[in-house]
Amino acid sequence: MLHDTTGAAGEPELHRTSAAGASAPAAGRRGLGRAAIRYPAAVVRNGQLAEALFSLAESHPPGELRLALVRAAYAVFDCPRELATVTRVPDTIPLEALPTVAMLRAARGEDALQAAVQRLRGPLLPRGTPTREGFLTAAEVGELLGLGAPLDPRHLRGACHFHTQASDGTTSLEAMARAALRRGASWAVVTDHTRGLACVNGLDAEGVALQRQRIASWNRRRGDELWLVQGLEAEILPDGTLDVPRRARDGVLLVAAIHTELGDRRDQTARLVRALAEPGVWALAHPQGRLFSRRSGLRANWEVVFREAAGRDVLLEINGFPRRQDLGPSLLAVAVATGCRFLLASDAHHPRHLSFDATAVAMASLARVPEARIVNFQMVETALANRLVG
Ligand SMILES: [Zn+2]
Ligand SMILES: [Zn+2]
Repeated sequence: MLHDTTGAAGEPELHRTSAAGASAPAAGRRGLGRAAIRYPAAVVRNGQLAEALFSLAESHPPGELRLALVRAAYAVFDCPRELATVTRVPDTIPLEALPTVAMLRAARGEDALQAAVQRLRGPLLPRGTPTREGFLTAAEVGELLGLGAPLDPRHLRGACHFHTQASDGTTSLEAMARAALRRGASWAVVTDHTRGLACVNGLDAEGVALQRQRIASWNRRRGDELWLVQGLEAEILPDGTLDVPRRARDGVLLVAAIHTELGDRRDQTARLVRALAEPGVWALAHPQGRLFSRRSGLRANWEVVFREAAGRDVLLEINGFPRRQDLGPSLLAVAVATGCRFLLASDAHHPRHLSFDATAVAMASLARVPEARIVNFQMVETALANRLVG
């Protein structure tokens, strides 16, 4: 359902950056890395419009209007089509915010948009935040997966890093497996949280054993359609060790992640490097720990971390959960140049979230990650070679 509006800026010409597109106007370009999409300067894109709405919301005191502007910003960010190309806006934009949205949409290009924002909020307030830089809008994800894209989500075989009711997911393991199968996967790695993570109801040793039985039961019945593998999303403790005892790591793929002290501005390089050396670690999950509009993530010497991951052949995760998009584009480019291999993750907590691995594909496409360096595009035997599974 969409609100009826008028005043769309008209159909833009969209360009992918390439040798041929190098002369496209730069004013419509967002800072997404080398392969950013470029637009004619007179087009206001969803990312720019959302940022303008966030910025206006931040200039308002707490209250109904501020909340409406924040909701409108998220609705624009999550809209699968550029609003400049449609005549109606999503009905998830609150009515109170519609006049502001209409005024901002009428702007012809970034300069006019900024002028409109200044008029609406006054000239002296801070602008923007680094916590929203380098995130793809839903519309940009769609464009990056369009015709001629270097990576195609329809070719994904492995559905990796998702949660079930056994930790903080909403659904049973079997329902998640069936949903992954419907999306075309031929193997899947379930990665519920471990008990060491205080903020969620994680698995203890008994829970891990019980889940292993359910996985074996699924694989006996339906393993030829979808081969299920047990993983765990293990917590990297402050000293870089994991919250999973070594004896409990046999036959389990560990994706290691930091969920605590993410606001800590101290350098986390040593903690991450230590974690990469832990036995059984398959991937480093959402390495930065950034969250859209909330936090920019950990501080670390990422070149050192990436070299260590490449040297130990630990996968770096590209987390496609839309509010995470972790690694971000600039660090992803460094990781590609360092020779790392990658795991695409949906971080699904619901069957519907499994499609977030397509966001990860878009992020990888933008960073020109070679398909051969992404395990999800491989057959399970290749992807998990040298790993004890089943
Ligand atoms: Zn996590
Ligand atoms: Zn997770």
